[in-house]
Amino acid sequence: MLTLATSIQYNNIQNFYLTMINKIKELEKLSRLLDPKESIREKWNSEVLDYSNIFINNLDTSKAFIQSKKNGKDIYNLDIDEQAIELTSLLDSTTKNIDGVGINPASGGHMGYIPGGGLYPSALGDYIAAISNRYAGVFYAAPGAVRLENMIIRWMCRLMDYPENSFGNLTSGGSTANLMALVTAREVHNIKARDIEKSVIYLTEQAHHSILKAIRISGLSEAKLRFIPLDENLKLSAEHLEKVIIEDRKNGLIPFYINASFGTTNTGTIDPLESIAVIAKKHKLWFHVDGAYGGFFKLVNELDSKFKGIKEADSITLDPHKTLFIPYGTGAILIKDKENLLKAYHYQADYMQDIIGKEDEISPADISTEQTKHFRGMRMWLPLKLFGLKPFRAALEEKLNLTKYFYDEIQKIERFEVGPEPELSVAIFRYVPKDEDANLFNRELIEAIQNDGRIFLSSTNINNVFWIRIAIVQFRTHLEQIDLLLDIIKKYLDDTLTELN
Ligand SMILES: *Cc1c(COP(=O)(O)O)cnc(C)c1O
Repeated sequence: MLTLATSIQYNNIQNFYLTMINKIKELEKLSRLLDPKESIREKWNSEVLDYSNIFINNLDTSKAFIQSKKNGKDIYNLDIDEQAIELTSLLDSTTKNIDGVGINPASGGHMGYIPGGGLYPSALGDYIAAISNRYAGVFYAAPGAVRLENMIIRWMCRLMDYPENSFGNLTSGGSTANLMALVTAREVHNIKARDIEKSVIYLTEQAHHSILKAIRISGLSEAKLRFIPLDENLKLSAEHLEKVIIEDRKNGLIPFYINASFGTTNTGTIDPLESIAVIAKKHKLWFHVDGAYGGFFKLVNELDSKFKGIKEADSITLDPHKTLFIPYGTGAILIKDKENLLKAYHYQADYMQDIIGKEDEISPADISTEQTKHFRGMRMWLPLKLFGLKPFRAALEEKLNLTKYFYDEIQKIERFEVGPEPELSVAIFRYVPKDEDANLFNRELIEAIQNDGRIFLSSTNINNVFWIRIAIVQFRTHLEQIDLLLDIIKKYLDDTLTELN
């Protein structure tokens, strides 16, 4: 029999549940806004498609570099708050405050630093990856996605003539790849805290600064750095390298890591990989090749001989977001012996026990710093498959030839001098005025080019000499842009030299 007391209690519970259900329904209504229906999706898609068409169609006439007073400051007007804003005004602000200032990496006029890519199908790949949001870190969760990424890694290993047992990881970029290589070497060579002060890393002044960053991040700041002298073409001198290693070992130090460059950022120079490989093997050092800029030139058959020795490297950094024209956020580390990768990165968590023994493929999470990760493979696979390799090979060969063309043409203008013959697609040049300060003159010249903005170049400093640098890597850079640059330079000289006279 129901007593009065229990029935009041029962009613209270009923009310409590009713209120809760109402509350949940109310919340559901709002949270369902996160999952827009087809008509809204279509409206948004078409607005973004318009944006992308206008952006790409305007590339012919838009500048490669835009300086402005505001420099995108108005983006702060769209700080995060409770308000929902229409897509149209967000895209307007993107166009003005993001696309409209700074360097335009999508422009064929971008020939400064190392230009980026941005292939259209990569955007579609990202779109697909974001829609399905496959958990590409772990085979058990996304076997197809992991197979796809590992297939791309095996392709890159084959491209570098790496052995069957090699493997790697798609990283966010070249810096992370360089860091991963160093950490792998540190673990494989069993460098402990007590060894660090005695450990020695060999590199040159032309090594990318991400190597120095990696040394600090990996806890190796106190290791000894040996900057090996460069020959007259700015290549690491293998002869010196071996001498220093022998000397260091004699003094009780622990030589363990050699960083060589396949294409330095400054001048596109290739270190003598074959000789370095022999030295590394003989003295049992880890041999890393930083091919972040240069590595994908392997796709150009006539360059094959330049890659001799690369397959002996213990690790290779590649950067698909540079010379494979994929958008930013895609690098790669390749390691010759996959056991070494596992040694450095593999961990087993209790809550992942369902996975053990169910994997046909190594999971990216087992061989990198990441667990949950962007499904980067899709943005690489889609363009590579949609276009096939032929246009990639052609584009890279075209850039090599454009660089040679520029190198020849600039020397035809009186008083220009150039650096070493370009091995890849980076060259340095400068104007040597009759009786003015050369460094100052070239600084002003590059400023004039940047102010014009149709072409963007950057500069570098080699042995206290100011050089202007051209790096031809953007897939949209063709003969037209190189001729435009030559015209801009000639016009500047005409104007300033008449002014001077
Ligand atoms: C660009 C570059 C890096 C760094 O790569 P990010 O993708 O920018 O992190 C490292 N080494 C060389 C030679 C490079 O050109």
